[in-house]
Amino acid sequence: MSDYEALTQQIREQARQLLSEGRVDCVIGYEVGPRGVTRPAFIYDAADVDRLVWNASCVHNLVTYLHDKKKPQRRGEEPPRVAVVVKPCDSRTINVLLAERQIARERIFAIGMACEGTVGADGEPLARCTRCGDRVPVVYDVLLGEPPNVSPPQDDYPDLARIEAMPPAERLAFWLGEFDRCIRCYACRQVCPGCYCTTCMFERDDGLWVDIGIEVSGKHIFHLGRALHLAGRCVECDECERVCPMGLPLSLLNRRLVREVDATFHYHAGREETLAPILFEFGGSK
Ligand code: SF4
Ligand code: SF4
Ligand code: SF4
Repeated sequence: MSDYEALTQQIREQARQLLSEGRVDCVIGYEVGPRGVTRPAFIYDAADVDRLVWNASCVHNLVTYLHDKKKPQRRGEEPPRVAVVVKPCDSRTINVLLAERQIARERIFAIGMACEGTVGADGEPLARCTRCGDRVPVVYDVLLGEPPNVSPPQDDYPDLARIEAMPPAERLAFWLGEFDRCIRCYACRQVCPGCYCTTCMFERDDGLWVDIGIEVSGKHIFHLGRALHLAGRCVECDECERVCPMGLPLSLLNRRLVREVDATFHYHAGREETLAPILFEFGGSK
């Protein structure tokens, strides 16, 4: 079992060193908020590092916040250097963003955490953790904790099998029913590290093929379009599904494409630092 208190102290010590030596301008980690809920924390001063914690509720993929740190904070300055606490699933996102030239490796310090798994608000393990075989980050500058001895599950896609067993008409009805519950709040898009367009094509009011309406047809296009934009880029962090206030099973869509990309190209987004985005490679080989 993780010694959360010891790991908390180790994270604080790392953060203290990095900030006091001027090696980073900000440490992105976790803190416990006033209502007792673990949430992202942004630490800019070594005097504040004791806010940082590590526990089983450190669920957020903090790499998403690197998008806010890509530009200089003031005119004429360099972009900030940032340390970020990453679990193994989050660390794959660093590789995706490096491959897509969204972040510069030399400006990022990854505090990698060997992971015992995380739990949701109900105290139960998140679905992503029950099927996870990666307990050490794929990229880090320092590794904290001891990886647990877990075996990857034999069948990684039992959830997809249930949907695929449905006749096509029933499957379509299932998805349209799910899309109908979507309130188009865009939380799934905002939390996704792979969704970083300045203006999302699904939120423009002058779209030719898709608009911002809340009819089922518009929501259908939004969800299929977003899933396809993430094809070969989704790292299966399940953050989109976790934050959805309506409980849409978005991981079923994403993982369907993950499985397809794996079967066709033997490609897993973010597993290696040098891996080029699959659609860039595919396009370049034509
Ligand atoms: S999916 Fe794996 S790496 Fe990510 S939080 Fe769960 S156990 Fe940890
Ligand atoms: S978070 Fe859920 S409700 Fe909001 S847009 Fe995404 S799928 Fe729809
Ligand atoms: S689509 Fe969902 S599971 Fe995939 S990277 Fe984005 S937030 Fe994570």
